[in-house]
Amino acid sequence: MRKGPHALPSTHTFAASRVPARRHGLRGNARMSAPISHPDIAILGGGLSGRLLAWQLIRGGARVALYERGDADGSSAAGWVAAAMLAPLAEAAVAEPSIVEMGAVGLERWPGLIDGLPEPVFFQRNGTLVVWHQPDRAESVMFDRRMRANAPPALLRGGVERLAGPQLGEVEPALAGRFQEGWLLPNEGQLDNRQLLRALAAGLAKAGAELHWHTEIAEGAYPQAGLVIDCRGLGARTALTQLRGVRGEVARIHAPGIGLRRPVRLLHPRYPIYIAPKENDLYVIGATELESEDMSPMTVRSALELLSAAHSLNPAFGEARIVELNVNCRPALPDHLPRVQWDGARLMRVNGLYRHGYLLAPAVTGEACALAQALMQTTSAPSGQAFDWETWRASRPWPDLFRQA
Ligand SMILES: Cc1cc2nc3c(=O)[nH]c(=O)nc-3n(C[C@H](O)[C@H](O)[C@H](O)COP(=O)(O)OP(=O)(O)OC[C@H]3O[C@@H](n4cnc5c(N)ncnc54)[C@H](O)[C@@H]3O)c2cc1C
Repeated sequence: MRKGPHALPSTHTFAASRVPARRHGLRGNARMSAPISHPDIAILGGGLSGRLLAWQLIRGGARVALYERGDADGSSAAGWVAAAMLAPLAEAAVAEPSIVEMGAVGLERWPGLIDGLPEPVFFQRNGTLVVWHQPDRAESVMFDRRMRANAPPALLRGGVERLAGPQLGEVEPALAGRFQEGWLLPNEGQLDNRQLLRALAAGLAKAGAELHWHTEIAEGAYPQAGLVIDCRGLGARTALTQLRGVRGEVARIHAPGIGLRRPVRLLHPRYPIYIAPKENDLYVIGATELESEDMSPMTVRSALELLSAAHSLNPAFGEARIVELNVNCRPALPDHLPRVQWDGARLMRVNGLYRHGYLLAPAVTGEACALAQALMQTTSAPSGQAFDWETWRASRPWPDLFRQA
């Protein structure tokens, strides 16, 4: 890691001219909603992080171009498959304290981010319910210990309620009589990932972003712009050699009449699952976590595990209709922490969101946005002052999020 203040190259400008697609290794159709000829910032990858970052940058006044190999719906992204639970305390049982902290911030920021979008996005903070079958109660002890070890006291205060069977039935009538105990984590949330991805695309188009759907960026053949920000998730694997994919499989089912009010996590030694309700009686059941980058369709074994676990939660799920069986891979770094990386000049990378992308994206992309804006301000300053990376980084709430490489 290089240390000390770094200046951007003196020739650097945030008003670079747009160069024909082919010369920059772009593949596919460059479809632009509102062509602009001099993007300040080119974002590679229009999944969750790319869109959300683009949205914050454009609202901050930057001219943004976005390049996505898939469609405007976001169907190529890991973010398309995700359950989009926003559960910092439930995740504390499997994640580091910094994830929990950033996640708690993210959860608070989502309503403000969604508010400005031109289309509605389902968001609720109705809590997470954690349950277990009695033979698996040892799992609940482990879960409790880990959660309390990794979560800050402020989040735990008023954030965990132990429920006995009858209370559990009152809180979640769909599970009445089925479990002897559970925990309600009342402050946790969720959103509709697909509505969000679509609303972000619509918001970006409306705000005048240059949107290139179906456009794959070849490694190293990046488009010209003042600053390039790589948000390609697992697509950045060649550039970020430590990045790996962690396969996740989910089922989407339609189950009218069950009426779960909030995501439910079922603790189990081998098949821990969650069921996250969406609008209109849709449920996402997930998710396997396999050390594999295989993107082929879901295995029979995984389908059996997910659907059997749902059935064990409430046999009425047996009558549900399977709408989709989906697979994608979570982009993970070896420490399972997110990263905002800067090359000391005009390239940034945002990656490593792993299994917490929706939870972390407001904090992580907010920080990436702050770095991009600081770099832009420095280069546009008449004095031509250098960017003091170490001082800037130390001033941020999560300095360890940032790396220079
Ligand atoms: C099964 C599953 C369940 C999940 N559940 C949750 C959850 O409940 N809560 C939560 O917080 N997180 C969840 N996640 C995690 C979350 O979805 C990810 O962390 C997040 O999507 C990562 O965002 P990203 O922008 O880095 O990558 P992505 O969302 O994958 O976006 C990357 C984009 O880059 C594009 N791209 C790749 N290569 C190129 C290229 N060469 N040129 C142009 N474009 C390219 C891709 O098409 C894609 O659209 C889940 C993930 C999975 C797989």
